[in-house]
Amino acid sequence: MARYTGASCRICRREGLKLFLKGDRCFTEKCAFTRRGYAPGQHGQSRKKLSNYGTQLREKQKARRIYGVLEGQFRRTYEIAERQKGITGENLLRLLELRLDNVVYRLGYGSSRTESRQLVNHGHFLINGKKVDIASYTVQVGDVISVREKSRASEKFKVFAENPKTLPNWLQGDVATFEGKVVSLPAREDIDVPVNETLIVELYSK
Ligand code: SF4
Repeated sequence: MARYTGASCRICRREGLKLFLKGDRCFTEKCAFTRRGYAPGQHGQSRKKLSNYGTQLREKQKARRIYGVLEGQFRRTYEIAERQKGITGENLLRLLELRLDNVVYRLGYGSSRTESRQLVNHGHFLINGKKVDIASYTVQVGDVISVREKSRASEKFKVFAENPKTLPNWLQGDVATFEGKVVSLPAREDIDVPVNETLIVELYSK
């Protein structure tokens, strides 16, 4: 499975904001964006006015990088969003939110989406009792996501259980019981990513 293997902190510096890609480190003074809050590279500190296209492109790249999705898959997700009823930009964000790696992250398993994706790839989760290890799997309303019995005793999962996250409205569950449920589709206001999805739609509609 293809994934981005470059330096995560360069992405935040390129996008001009903290994207919290490295879990706990992002909240410390070691954060590269806190120390050098300008774009990487030789010309990173020179101010450059972006064209319309440049602004749209940056927004798409930001969304892609927050969710850790490569270009091809992002484009395919967009095409599905376009075919769905409703507002394409919101459909796109909803589909990204419903990816299994993101749902696991939202449920509190993983300090970053990268870590959550790895947990999924390693087969720690069941959906409705069946093992699913595909990070891009789209969960449905009513799906129950649970931690595999064997994994529950591991040190990692014990730490997650002791540090529950606040869940978004569309999820229910408790890391202490190792189970969560998708109770509704995420509405736009439930998706707290700093992305203007309209710009992405404009970019792909050219
Ligand atoms: Fe971004 Fe986190 Fe790196 Fe800071 S530490 S630059 S928030 S990935």
